[in-house]
Amino acid sequence: MITRTLGTIAAMCGGELLSSSAVDTKIAGVVTDSRKITPACLFVPLAGETFDGHHYGGAALAAGAAGTLWQRDRGTPPYGAVIVVEDTLEALQELSAAYLKDVAPQVVAVTGSNGKTTTKDMITALLEGQFKVHKTQGNFNNHIGLPLTVLSMEEDTEIAVLEMGMSSRGEIALLASLATPDVAVITNVGESHLLQLGSRKEIARAKLEIAEGLKPGGLLIYNGDEPLLAEVLQEPAFRAPAGMNTFRFGGDAGNDDYPTGMMSHSGGMTFTSQQHAERAFTLPLPGRHNVINALSALAVARHYGVTAENIEAGLSTLKLTGMRIEVLRMECGLTLLNDAYNASPTSMKAAIDVLQSMKTAGSKIAVLGDMLELGPEEMQFHKEIGVYLDPERTDLIFTYGPLSRHLADAAEQTFGKERVFAFTDKEQLIAGLVDKSSPKDIVLFKASRGMKLEEAMHSLQAHY
Ligand code: ATP
Ligand code: MG
Repeated sequence: MITRTLGTIAAMCGGELLSSSAVDTKIAGVVTDSRKITPACLFVPLAGETFDGHHYGGAALAAGAAGTLWQRDRGTPPYGAVIVVEDTLEALQELSAAYLKDVAPQVVAVTGSNGKTTTKDMITALLEGQFKVHKTQGNFNNHIGLPLTVLSMEEDTEIAVLEMGMSSRGEIALLASLATPDVAVITNVGESHLLQLGSRKEIARAKLEIAEGLKPGGLLIYNGDEPLLAEVLQEPAFRAPAGMNTFRFGGDAGNDDYPTGMMSHSGGMTFTSQQHAERAFTLPLPGRHNVINALSALAVARHYGVTAENIEAGLSTLKLTGMRIEVLRMECGLTLLNDAYNASPTSMKAAIDVLQSMKTAGSKIAVLGDMLELGPEEMQFHKEIGVYLDPERTDLIFTYGPLSRHLADAAEQTFGKERVFAFTDKEQLIAGLVDKSSPKDIVLFKASRGMKLEEAMHSLQAHY
């Protein structure tokens, strides 16, 4: 984590240190949450819509913080080691950019509609064998999370792998300007945040802001299955950094890398690819989409000269952040696929692919809840999922929520009424699942975060 004197910190973020006696006081780490004050940290109070961290400036110093930032328009600062700035959020961002310049690691930035966290974890696993790597913890991928991620980096970091999230235009541009990546990865373009952005093309433009922020000569690794990315790259308004290199990965032959063979098994996926025809890699995760994610991580690894042996070892140690298609095999024989972390049409189809490619002596049950924030076409998106489900490879469908009713209606056309059950009440959903499931079944849970579908899964788990 960052350690600097308050005098240096003030210079890094363009602030004014009020107490001259504190100029040589050293801080260790930066905290924005007053409940997480650590000894000798720098407290950065942020002003939100409903909450202002400045209320806790004095308490933070009393609790052992080495110093605190203070926004000039927030009244009288507490007595002590205070650095006054015009805007604490901007100061936090400037501080992180300055620290990144000091440490000067290679920077790999990952964005995309789905699979950012998964891909970030994969890239880190592949690089860790040969480099000292720092990665975004959990989902700290926004205008506050990214600076905090950077500031928690150790001084001897060689490569920083940073997740960049967004919900509107300009957000990735800001994050990329703070981090100036050497390598940028765009996992895909889906439909998340369609409500805010209006069209998939506009989503593609927003993702490609990451490429505009690359260092000169930087490498853009992007999903070549998505024609919109190639289209936007050709637009006159797109400003590529000088000497930008590109690499396309995806499922389609014709990409610079694509799978040439793929096998799904209980241990995950084994695959070969165009770039690695001589060696099959095993990924301890289910789903074709994860093989595609892995191809982008392999491209990053090759860029940094990671050997095939270290790639193989790295993939085998892969651990993902929770609730992203977790496979839970219960003692009674029931298999639960927990993907209730979030959902968009693209990721819902990917999760359905996983369920449908699995084998069981029992039934395969899809429990699908509403996908939120999809904009005016939300009904259509739900219908499309209903059509996408294959009656030969899924046995029963349970839906949860008013939007999913449209999914259920569409699915009834091919599944028939007796295999589709629609609910808007969670207790009834659970009762239905308990009634129709048995210990040899595989049950997938997938919905937007707001639906809290994992509650239904835990209830089913408790029943068995
Ligand atoms: P967030 O926007 O919440 O940060 P994220 O982009 O980091 O999401 P992950 O957390 O890696 O994405 O995965 C989220 C969901 O997307 C999971 O349900 C996962 O199964 C699915 N997913 C992962 N990769 C892909 C992909 N390439 N295509 C479609 N779905 C994917
Ligand atoms: Mg994420």
